[in-house]
Amino acid sequence: MASQQVTVWNEFVHERENDAVAEVYPDGIHDAIATGLEDRGYETRTATLQEPEHGLTEAVLEETDVLTWWGHTAHDEVEEEVVERITERVRDGMGLIVLHSGHYSKPFKRLMGTSCSLKWREADDRERIWVIEPGHPIAQGVDDCIEIDAAETYGERFDVPAPDELVFTSWFQGGEVFRSGCCYRRGNGRIFYFRPGHETYPIYHREDVRDVLANAVEWAAPVANPGTSLQGNQEPREDVDIESDSTVH
Ligand code: ZN
Repeated sequence: MASQQVTVWNEFVHERENDAVAEVYPDGIHDAIATGLEDRGYETRTATLQEPEHGLTEAVLEETDVLTWWGHTAHDEVEEEVVERITERVRDGMGLIVLHSGHYSKPFKRLMGTSCSLKWREADDRERIWVIEPGHPIAQGVDDCIEIDAAETYGERFDVPAPDELVFTSWFQGGEVFRSGCCYRRGNGRIFYFRPGHETYPIYHREDVRDVLANAVEWAAPVANPGTSLQGNQEPREDVDIESDSTVH
């Protein structure tokens, strides 16, 4: 369908300070992610930590159907006011896709309510990201597993609430397993956490990973009727006596 407006957010620090990372992502991780989504027909804009309000003003978020988030070394620099704005928009229906080390970002931790910590190692382990819910919209068109020759290892326990739906589970050469594709709902919003994407590996240039991200955007996009008409004080559908003091309920 590809009618969603996506804002691709990146802290954009490693790419400017580390030559090895700049070689993999010369225009930033956000550019690679946005390119993959544009190739699949999505309208994207990018935003980075360095911009005023981190590029996430009220106006930008108002126009955003789905926000993707990549951060690692500068989580603490994200302003509280912007975090509050994002989490409120998610509860109102904006989709949020949290990538890799974004597990420690303020918006994700705030929405999960847990530490979101995990086990990790940088050892070029092979990773197999197994599809464990092949019928799920986010897994459409994906092979049985996505195999990545060299990746940063994440391992359980991942301290998050039990996902509403778990789409992917990773196996690593070193023996660890990890819940790699976790779906959540918070208020009217949908959240997808997707594990791969360490800054020194060209993972966001892969077509299979880009396919998953596009599927996730489609899944996380706001629904047409979030159900607000089903809330608040209402007249009965049947002819019943209403006590004069309705506030006791
Ligand atoms: Zn990493």
